[in-house]
Amino acid sequence: MAQQKTCTVIGGCGFLGQHLVEGLVNKGYSVKVFDQKQTFDNKDVEFFLGDLCKREELLPALAGSQTVFHCATPSPLSDNREIFQKVNCMGTKVVLDCCKEAGVKKLILTSSASVIFEGTDLQNGREELGYADNPIDPYVESKIKQEEEILEANNPSEDFCTIALRPHGIFGPRDPHFIPTLVNMAKRGGTLFKIGKGTNKVDFTYVENVVHGHILAAEKLKPKSRVTGRAYNITNAEPVPF
Ligand code: NAD
Repeated sequence: MAQQKTCTVIGGCGFLGQHLVEGLVNKGYSVKVFDQKQTFDNKDVEFFLGDLCKREELLPALAGSQTVFHCATPSPLSDNREIFQKVNCMGTKVVLDCCKEAGVKKLILTSSASVIFEGTDLQNGREELGYADNPIDPYVESKIKQEEEILEANNPSEDFCTIALRPHGIFGPRDPHFIPTLVNMAKRGGTLFKIGKGTNKVDFTYVENVVHGHILAAEKLKPKSRVTGRAYNITNAEPVPF
């Protein structure tokens, strides 16, 4: 039982990662964090610094972990296709190789609801929808490839189970992305454009709910479980007017 509660959070110093680490520690997990930078301290957590694209740097962080959460990404705001390909696509192959070598049993990917977004309105979108044929940007293109790679690696007969969770926007305490971007824009005197009648909706999920989804996924992920090898859209409840 004790070994089942050992895990590594790749990208554990990011916005979601840090909340996930706290949620896991509170649930009694023994947690290792792998990230390219350390942004917080926690005496209950073991930190490993490195680049996930480098096998020799990642592998030690997975030793002894039964479960791995992969929530690292380059900034979606970057316009650099090359970096998305390198980290989200090639890097994911390294993550999978290292998981197999370290004997990891469960891999939970933080994907994105954007993988099914074609640029037109989507309400109550379900998992049956296929990937976008025309991803909206290079970040989403790389998230599609990443999700496909991770779900294809699902192999319950070898006791290696994978799952992908797809939140859309994430909000909550210590958000370094969405709200600060709006505030900075406002401070610089930037303008907000209203498209349409102001009734457009966008989906945001509270960060603690995203964490809850990840921990539930990890706990349900087993070779005979129906969730193994699947992707799930996750959200709070109703989308909010935007
Ligand atoms: P974040 O930018 O806050 O955190 C990402 C972390 O990954 C950072 O700490 C960064 O240092 C680390 N990282 C990046 N490249 C790395 C590398 N090569 N090696 C090691 N570490 C590396 O991002 P976030 O908002 O916490 O997003 C977490 C996950 O959730 C991502 O997979 C993202 O695609 C997904 N997601 C986020 C949102 C959102 O609104 N924030 C919405 C949908 C999906």
